[in-house]
Amino acid sequence: MTKKGLLDNANWVYHQADQLGKFEGDNNRRPSGIQVKALTDVMNGLGWNAGIRKPSKSLDPNAWWCDNDHTNLPEILQSLANNFHTDQQIGQLFNVARDAAGQIPCKDFPDNPFYRYQVNNQSPYRVRCCMPGCYHRLSRTAIVHWIATLVEDEVIDGEKFGGRNER
Ligand SMILES: [Zn+2]
Repeated sequence: MTKKGLLDNANWVYHQADQLGKFEGDNNRRPSGIQVKALTDVMNGLGWNAGIRKPSKSLDPNAWWCDNDHTNLPEILQSLANNFHTDQQIGQLFNVARDAAGQIPCKDFPDNPFYRYQVNNQSPYRVRCCMPGCYHRLSRTAIVHWIATLVEDEVIDGEKFGGRNER
């Protein structure tokens, strides 16, 4: 499968979630399991099986909402770290997570929406908080750790998963 094909596949997963609109108004489910599952599916769409769990059957629209298994931070982190380590891989992981969450909040001011990471350097890959006076930076390893934390902490909002499809 070509790289473009993999990205198209990931976009397709986003598109399905967006079209279904299943996240809206569904507050009865545990979101963390949904988000991990959705992230797993997106990563699988990009051609990485992160090993967090088996990907959903992507044609099954109910798959993400039927699985409420708990996944903890060490498990998420280890899976991500095992699968994302090159500049390019971590860059794509960052893009997928950012699109899913809307933005990646700054680790120093995680509750302030004006503090968010942007790509600062491609090689070695690095992101930097956009806010002058902060400019907090994350290296590759720190990016993976922070994204895993955001998934575990449910900052990556299930309602926003699939809502953006810009690539
Ligand atoms: Zn910052």
